[in-house]
Amino acid sequence: MANVIAIDGPSGAGKSSVSRLVGKKLGYLHVDSGALYRIMTWQCLVHGVDTSDPAAVVKFVRNVTVESRPEDGAIAYYVGGETPGDRIRTPEVTAHASEVARLPEVREIITSALRGMASCGNLVVEGRDITTAVFPDSPARFYLTASAEARARRRQKEEVEKGIANQSAETVKASLLARDRMDSSRACAPLRKADGALEIDSSDMTLEEVVETVLAALPPSWR
Ligand code: C5P
Repeated sequence: MANVIAIDGPSGAGKSSVSRLVGKKLGYLHVDSGALYRIMTWQCLVHGVDTSDPAAVVKFVRNVTVESRPEDGAIAYYVGGETPGDRIRTPEVTAHASEVARLPEVREIITSALRGMASCGNLVVEGRDITTAVFPDSPARFYLTASAEARARRRQKEEVEKGIANQSAETVKASLLARDRMDSSRACAPLRKADGALEIDSSDMTLEEVVETVLAALPPSWR
């Protein structure tokens, strides 16, 4: 059985940067579970499926094929042979993702895909329900958080740097808090800190410090 490091937390807490770096240091594959929810949302939008209509979303999503394979230290995703890239990071996809992610049938499809990835090797998996629902038995579970201000600042900078959007910090913060609310209050696999997960508040920590904290808390044989 592969080793799985599970990292959950709200939007903009730094999960991706931390997971990528931890994966690189240990030679574990980085798995971005949020990208799968974003891909389903993006595909709904591209094909004109109303994301507020659960029956339509579920029917459509069952027929979306996402190929996944290890590439450059991460699990890479392909839809119709193409990599989605930043098309899944637009404010529009971001705004609708929680609506799609609250549906149990969608979560079932993605949870089963994520569990299957353990056959590719050791993993660092980040998301909202990895420590509570996808890999709840992992001995290495983390809840990464930060203040809303710090999270909005980071997310806004990232959007500008990548040329994805140029929204004000206030707009980014409002969208991030709205998403947190939906992700934490849904009935199926809500975002919450799992019992036994190590909580790390990264508001005043550097990326390196967070990574060191994660590495130090791993079972010794994994380091
Ligand atoms: O992590 P990211 O912000 O890319 O995730 C996009 C959305 O996907 C989240 O707001 C959440 O609704 C959903 N998600 C989820 N469970 C996960 C990962 C992401 O519900 N494990």
